[in-house]
Amino acid sequence: MNQPRQQQLFEPPPEPTPWERAAESDQLIAEVVLNRPLTEVYHYLVPDPLRPLLAPGQRVKVPFGRGNKLLTGYCVGFGKPGATNRRLKSIEAVVDRMPLVSAEMLELTRWMGERYLCSWGQVLESVIPAGVKKQAGTREILHFIPAEGVCERIGELKLPRKQRAILEELCRSDEPMTADELTAAASCGTAPLQGLRDKQLVQPIRRRQETFQVERTPVERQADLTLNAEQQQVLNEIHGLLRNGQHETILLHGVTGSGKTEVYIQAIREVVDYGRQAIVLVPEISLTPQTIRRFRRRFESVAVLHSHLSDAERHWHWQRIAAGEVQVVVGARSAVFAPTPHLGLIVIDEEHETTFKQQTTPRYHAREVAQQRARQEKIPLVLGSATPTLESLWKAKQKEYHLCTLAKRVEQRPLPPVVTVDTRNDPKIARGHSLGRAMESSIRVALKDGGQVILFLNIRGFSPVLWCARCAAGVKCPECDITLTWHKDRRKVVCHSCEYEADPPKRCPICEMPGMRFLGAGTQRLEEEVRAKFPDHRVLRMDSDSMKKPGSHDTALDAFRHGQVDILLGTQMIAKGLDFPNVTLVGVIDADTLLHQPDLRASERTFQLIAQVAGRTGRGERAGRVLVQTGCPDEPVIRFASRHDYLGFARHELKHRKDSMTPPFSQLARIVARGESESAVKAGIRGIAEQLREAIAKANLPIRVIGPALAPIARLRGMHRFHLLMSTTDPAAIRALWLAVSPNLELPREVELMIDVDPLDMR
Ligand code: ADP
Ligand code: ZN
Repeated sequence: MNQPRQQQLFEPPPEPTPWERAAESDQLIAEVVLNRPLTEVYHYLVPDPLRPLLAPGQRVKVPFGRGNKLLTGYCVGFGKPGATNRRLKSIEAVVDRMPLVSAEMLELTRWMGERYLCSWGQVLESVIPAGVKKQAGTREILHFIPAEGVCERIGELKLPRKQRAILEELCRSDEPMTADELTAAASCGTAPLQGLRDKQLVQPIRRRQETFQVERTPVERQADLTLNAEQQQVLNEIHGLLRNGQHETILLHGVTGSGKTEVYIQAIREVVDYGRQAIVLVPEISLTPQTIRRFRRRFESVAVLHSHLSDAERHWHWQRIAAGEVQVVVGARSAVFAPTPHLGLIVIDEEHETTFKQQTTPRYHAREVAQQRARQEKIPLVLGSATPTLESLWKAKQKEYHLCTLAKRVEQRPLPPVVTVDTRNDPKIARGHSLGRAMESSIRVALKDGGQVILFLNIRGFSPVLWCARCAAGVKCPECDITLTWHKDRRKVVCHSCEYEADPPKRCPICEMPGMRFLGAGTQRLEEEVRAKFPDHRVLRMDSDSMKKPGSHDTALDAFRHGQVDILLGTQMIAKGLDFPNVTLVGVIDADTLLHQPDLRASERTFQLIAQVAGRTGRGERAGRVLVQTGCPDEPVIRFASRHDYLGFARHELKHRKDSMTPPFSQLARIVARGESESAVKAGIRGIAEQLREAIAKANLPIRVIGPALAPIARLRGMHRFHLLMSTTDPAAIRALWLAVSPNLELPREVELMIDVDPLDMR
């Protein structure tokens, strides 16, 4: 039933010490941060009536700036009155009844502001879910409690019969009761209750009550598996750390299907047995019913935090987590902020996934935030992947992380052979097909033997290039510097950056010749070709166009799992974490799409991708194989990937990174300036580069400024973009530089700036 739940998210911290209060003629001063790019902590007087209402972690309304505009900020502490001569302004109002975040979370968010060069207030605003701020799914309801001492002398009171009945009910109850509950229990109307209120024998109080409950469907529980020797070894290491109350980051390098998840589960078992909680971060795309079911079958109480929760659902989970009722939180990136009261372990599965990095302020990486949180709470952090990032592997080599390895798949299932097919001499590819000769015949063989096939292509739409045959101009989005993609099903050309769409132009916008051509293949065109070549087989396409409806993703995967589909084709949506025992062929249609990106991690991403898709086959009794179509079969990354040689690839690539002094051998920060006027943006970023270089020279900082230059996407949503990079071997230096330069940056008003520390997206 709907038990009223008290709003007791966090204990308010102890009152400020008498010393703090007494200082400066007994004035209490609150430290307040604002959701603005200002890194300063502001001081405000706390008026006497607000004192008992305010604690760190609550929002306040404060007057700000010359016009004393009212802003909402976060109280982050009570300060000692500084040596400031300025007269302090006063807090106008306290917004929240209880702190929204704990003291530990305040510390973590403060650290994030410093680490990612944004303000503490911006971080708090971003990491506290909107549903928690507005207490979605709850409502204040009037309750009654007996007035003080009334129950003890109830026998002496002279009361009408019905008033007595109500009062007796209320005295019997341990909980405050609503008017409805009281009148029902005493079977009377509301008049007697009003009588008691008039005599001040009962006291009204407001309590928040949930108006919303998440339905939970029971799942069949399952026992833990018996680990193999390799798994047991890794588990022992984690246990050792857990028992010593020690922080350490474990990098678990285990090939796909080596039983990493089973190790996480059993490590969490120990944590839960001690009455603590665990957080498991997975890429959003792997939050499939399959993953969720796996955790639900093993633990009593699991909360799943994905991006499609409503505000009320998120708030409901947040409260249960904060109350310690949840053993395991499974979620995407932002679940790293789950308010577990007694965290025991954090796991990040598929730690190499780029979705762990947030692409808006604060541009944090969940792996780093998790590590900081684990350090603060003195608990282990486990990073798992078949293809760890070179950053993590390098840290393990430097003994900063502890490396554990699961070298074999469970039950000695072999990794599938990976065969590369050179598309340069393929007659079919030359004629514009997506399936080369070898690919087509392999699909035929696999289907004939009753196996299923997965085909992977990283481009959605029908044709990624709309092109004029006469002047050779590509047709770009009017708002972005990106060529339009032909979506045949909608009969529109679409921009994949801003979703601009239009009818396909009949003439070239530049030379006005009729006869535009569509070049290249996306998943829609691949689907058409596959259906034409395999008319007797069932084909399903999965990409963000075909999977728009909520739940369609799961329905599609279920259909494939149950053999209602023979060929599954799609974008990275199908490359992740799925376990289909009957898949005997995985085809990578074009391995070069990622390889040729202007990105320092292009090789690394290509290796990860091939390893991930290869992991989708050979998982059951039947053996599987992988076919990779590429125009550059001699690229080292393709050769390492076809041998499943992660460590060989890592050695090769790390050497290259060292020679070019790119991450992990240096740290980068990227500044992007954007605005509607190209000349203003260009002048703006040039000015910044100059100021940075001056400050570097003056303080003799070990930082190199590269650029400014046009950003690879020079125009996005109508904004011109320029960028520059700062590169250093001393992470503290960039922060020092930014602190010195940013307060005095002079920028034309219409130019916006963003700074990204450890950028993953350089476009
Ligand atoms: P990973 O997370 O490394 O991809 P999983 O934990 O998903 O690996 O394991 C792959 C498959 O092997 C799963 O079906 C899992 O149930 C099974 N498995 C894992 N560990 C064991 C074990 N010790 N004994 C038997 N089966 C196991
Ligand atoms: Zn666009």
